[in-house]
Amino acid sequence: MVGLEQKNKGKVFLVGAGPGDPELITRKAIALISSCETLVYDHLANAEFRKYASIDCEQIDVGKSPGRHTMDQKEIGEILVSKGLEGKMVVRLKGGDPFVFGRCAEEMIVLDEAKISYEIVPGVTAALACAAYAGIPLSHREYGSSISFLTGHEDIEKESLRVDFAKFGEIGGTLCIYMGMGKLSEITAKLLSGGLSPDKPAAIVSHGTLPSQSKIVTTLGKLVKEAKKANLVAPAIIFVGNSVGLSTKQNWFENRPLFGKRIVITRPQGQLSRLKDLLTKKGAEVMELPLIKIIPQQDRKLVAETFAGIATYEWVVFTSANGAKEFFNVFFKAFPDIRSFGPMRIACVGEATAKVVRKFNLEVELIPKRSTAEDLAKDLVATESLDSANILVIIGNRNRDILVGLLESVGHAIVDTLAIYQTDFADVNEAPDRAKFIENGADAVVFASSSAALSYIEQEEDIVLEKGATQPIHCSMGPQTTKTLIENNLSVDLEAEDSSLESMVHSLVEHFTK
Ligand code: SAH
Repeated sequence: MVGLEQKNKGKVFLVGAGPGDPELITRKAIALISSCETLVYDHLANAEFRKYASIDCEQIDVGKSPGRHTMDQKEIGEILVSKGLEGKMVVRLKGGDPFVFGRCAEEMIVLDEAKISYEIVPGVTAALACAAYAGIPLSHREYGSSISFLTGHEDIEKESLRVDFAKFGEIGGTLCIYMGMGKLSEITAKLLSGGLSPDKPAAIVSHGTLPSQSKIVTTLGKLVKEAKKANLVAPAIIFVGNSVGLSTKQNWFENRPLFGKRIVITRPQGQLSRLKDLLTKKGAEVMELPLIKIIPQQDRKLVAETFAGIATYEWVVFTSANGAKEFFNVFFKAFPDIRSFGPMRIACVGEATAKVVRKFNLEVELIPKRSTAEDLAKDLVATESLDSANILVIIGNRNRDILVGLLESVGHAIVDTLAIYQTDFADVNEAPDRAKFIENGADAVVFASSSAALSYIEQEEDIVLEKGATQPIHCSMGPQTTKTLIENNLSVDLEAEDSSLESMVHSLVEHFTK
């Protein structure tokens, strides 16, 4: 009977999400988020991780949020128990490591009482992550042989310090103090009264591992003043100890070329990851403002007819990476074997598009130097193979009338087009980072396509920046997009040299490190 009861109960995973940098989460945590039925999270775990959850996963925010009271530990416990009793697989995601000042013990106790089984997944705790990303060693054979994790006020409701900091002043070693910013002067005074010298090396790392990371490395005596001067705020870790004095001069994290820059990307959601990745690696804070969405071609008959005659084309032209991707997606649903594609020659607009095609071991014969319809048409005509030839152009729904026109009029080709996908304007009011963009502005907006530019222009009224917000520069992925922006009276400050993501990032780095 007991066994049966157990079987119907769910399971709760108490999971550490790491300190903030989305790359510092464990593979185990991601696998659990991807497969859970209920995700319980708070503001300390990076919002990025919620994207791994499946569409039908119920997501419950138990953190502070405006307009709603902060859930206390008891309520969080009740949610975990009730979801567990419903038979759900629950992930309770916590910042850093669940066992380091993470209230994990309290949650274990209520789950024990309710006889709900659970597992615990460790995470990179803030002190270790901040130390690494700020280049502050926590130990050294000669300087520090103990490391302590302390808390300033472990209970938000309790005002007084629980830890006897004067005693830790006597013990020495390296001290890593969590939640100490609200009581910084009290803590330093206690440490000094415990016998630590005002010259003892000390540091603070705020927003560690995030694009907003900032730090000071100084001495205990100057810590309060320097923290004020640098405007350091919670969440932060305070470090005190001799090994802190050996901290790096290199500043590897904050010296990345786009560190501190806020860059808006406008690609459709689900496709933005590579540009986001590249920019994040250079240190930028990336905000997402998807301006278009992609809808697969609904006219199945049109697709089927084109495929039926696919082997009759002499050239197939792919005009975008999205188009090429979607084309092969659909193609392999119809034909299991690449040999059904036929012996035609292949032209692509842009290196990124060619890359997609080459993945299938298909040779791309022609890529125009500049990614414009005119250049592609000119290069194709120059092959002297177009006269009365059948050509298939794979397009999105908004582009390339010019290309088709030129191939027909100048090249005398017989052109079929296949709109393999359609793009539509995405509602900017639903963009994940719209509010942040309006409030703070950004250093740059990257327009991924002409349609993204048009969507921006059409919805400009919904994204008017607040007074004092940083006015972004406008970056275009290629000549077509540039043209659209200029025609609509928007300035273009940067254009990607060869329409690739890499060259866009390169131009941004050059611009901001000038
Ligand atoms: N379980 C978490 C700690 C939760 S207590 C962990 O293992 O990291 C919350 C405190 O953690 C904050 O007040 C701050 O002191 C620290 N903290 C969390 N994230 C941080 C970050 N990105 N940078 C600096 N300190 C951080």
